[in-house]
Amino acid sequence: MHLLLVRPKNISPTSIRNQRHSLINLLQSSTTTNKQLKQIHAHLLLRNSLSHSLLYLHNSMLLAYANSPTPNDAFSFFATQMGHLPWDKYTLQFLLKASSKSKSLFHTTHVHLMILKRGFSSYTTLMNAILSCYALCDRLQDARNLFDGMPQRDIVSFNSMIHKYAESGNMDDAFRLFQQVPSPNVITWTTLVFGFSSNGDISAAREVFERMPERDVVSWNAMISSYVQNHDPFEALQLFRRMLAENVKPNSTTVCGALSACGSLGALETGKWIHVYINKSRFQLDPFLGSALIDMYSKCGITELAVEVFGCLKEKTLCTGNALINGLAMNGNAEQALDLFNKMVNDKGFRPDEVTFVGVLLACSHGGFLDEGRRHFYGTMKEYGITPVLEHYACMVDLLSRSGLLMEAEEVIRNMPITPDVVVWRALLGGCRLHKNVELADKIVLEMEAQGSGDYVLLSNLYASVGRWEDVEKVRKFMRHRGIKKIPGCSSIEVDNTIHEFISGEKSHPRYAMICKKLEELGMKMSEDGYSVETSVVLYDIEEEEKEQALGHHSEKLAIGFGLISTAPGSTLRIVKNLRFCTDCHNVTKLISKICNREIVVRDRTRFHHFKDGICTCKDYW
Ligand code: ZN
Ligand code: ZN
Repeated sequence: MHLLLVRPKNISPTSIRNQRHSLINLLQSSTTTNKQLKQIHAHLLLRNSLSHSLLYLHNSMLLAYANSPTPNDAFSFFATQMGHLPWDKYTLQFLLKASSKSKSLFHTTHVHLMILKRGFSSYTTLMNAILSCYALCDRLQDARNLFDGMPQRDIVSFNSMIHKYAESGNMDDAFRLFQQVPSPNVITWTTLVFGFSSNGDISAAREVFERMPERDVVSWNAMISSYVQNHDPFEALQLFRRMLAENVKPNSTTVCGALSACGSLGALETGKWIHVYINKSRFQLDPFLGSALIDMYSKCGITELAVEVFGCLKEKTLCTGNALINGLAMNGNAEQALDLFNKMVNDKGFRPDEVTFVGVLLACSHGGFLDEGRRHFYGTMKEYGITPVLEHYACMVDLLSRSGLLMEAEEVIRNMPITPDVVVWRALLGGCRLHKNVELADKIVLEMEAQGSGDYVLLSNLYASVGRWEDVEKVRKFMRHRGIKKIPGCSSIEVDNTIHEFISGEKSHPRYAMICKKLEELGMKMSEDGYSVETSVVLYDIEEEEKEQALGHHSEKLAIGFGLISTAPGSTLRIVKNLRFCTDCHNVTKLISKICNREIVVRDRTRFHHFKDGICTCKDYW
């Protein structure tokens, strides 16, 4: 915009009116920059003496400031420009909008006083706005006092008050208030769903959701995303299917939530179906939805499709680039990930951020690119002014540890300016196990224990790998004594759009007997091939899973067995496991891929394994 500042004495009444119109248009446009606002502000200062009928323009100015990145400027505009001129309830409304944006208690109290003094308290809209400002400023008691004293309360007053309570984690009061609402609307109910789920009480959220007399897309989104966030992708997808069955039209937020659930479950068929649905329903493939698709395909182990989606995006942003770099890295396509990084940064001039470098270092660590990893960690990141966070340290320690540079890895941890978390320590511990350095591992576990995060399972496996069975028993006894629980292994596989979950040692699957028969038959073929289980090692070297459940009953074997008997010969099996792959299952899967001529993709807790012709892409290094 080109703003002409004209001297007051040269303006004719008509030009004043015209100019006022164009200024109002400008103030109401969403593209007006802060600099332009300041210019108009200066212009109005100059013009003020001319006319006293500028209220509409002044209010537009307040609203524009309230929506700008510097909402507090609305108050300085009001003080310098409007204090001695007439104002109305819109003035108050826009000032409150500004104080809610800046969460300023000072300004909120100020406007509240103005409302009381000038007798505006009968306007429920204004009182609701004050209410929500107090709540945003964490002044629940002030909000409650105001609410209790309000001459009239409408549904918005109740909703604002319940929303607050919910935000501050006070669900008892939120629920009590909910029960007093004469006729709660869909927003009231959804606020309660959102409140329970964001406070971790997902079953209460679901109960409220089920009792809702009517639901809109926002209510469905609130419930689906709470399952995604609470690590129950299975239930999130069930709900998504039910939503479609009940003919509620999902929006972009819904499909992003559903895609994220598909990614967590490795539910490729469902994910593909949603992709088709997105195209059919003509959703705009914005960077947000694009990243969700890339992430879903990557987590299902199909980087080709992730790359394809990326290629189709009209607008390539850092966010979509990051999604693909990380996706490629976690699938072990290290070179492709680093190539993309170079293209994005060197050719296209994107400025990489923290997330980009997590992907880059992950690629270096999975690919074993020591020099390149060091170069990025010690050099490139600094060039871009990025301070390493825990994820970067974990990748770097992992890379050094795998390469056998345990001293350097330990050095990196010792020099960290932030407290290392269990993931960072575990990376070093993994290196100790790989390179059989028991002394260092002993020392680390003691330190981890001091921080309350001892990793005894890894330590006992390490003792087992060097044959120190007495120490193994000692650690196990210690764990039993302390009541340290192991997480049961769980693997899932999607067949015909249905997700089948297998827990280690559990026999409840309807085709359990068939699965065991298939695994036995394969076991025979494997021993003909010369495979034998080193029982003692296997019994101890079983990650987090109980030894009595070992051999044949680990969740990933059950899932593979089920996949083999229920899919067409030659088709790829895709499995997701919650823990790290155990050595024996890894060996067996390699052999199965060869004997049955199948590609098998397993995503474990830390990475992807793509098995084909008896070889795994992790090169037995995980
Ligand atoms: Zn296993
Ligand atoms: Zn592997």
